[in-house]
Amino acid sequence: MINTDIVRIDCDCPECGKEHVDRDYWALNPHKTHLCEHCGSLFPVTERSVSRSFISSEFHQTIKHLFEN
Ligand SMILES: [Zn+2]
Ligand SMILES: [Zn+2]
Repeated sequence: MINTDIVRIDCDCPECGKEHVDRDYWALNPHKTHLCEHCGSLFPVTERSVSRSFISSEFHQTIKHLFEN
């Protein structure tokens, strides 16, 4: 169920320098413009990608329900 074709990167916010973590929905959906959860800035990357994916157990449950129903 986890898409292995996802390009994974470790990117940091160019504005505040903090690490960018892609959570839940964004951990499964590569994107070219990343939103910093610390300072709110949007920054573009060269390739659609996911940075430091993190999926909460709640979101895992939600996905499971979607696929079971
Ligand atoms: Zn930032
Ligand atoms: Zn992102």
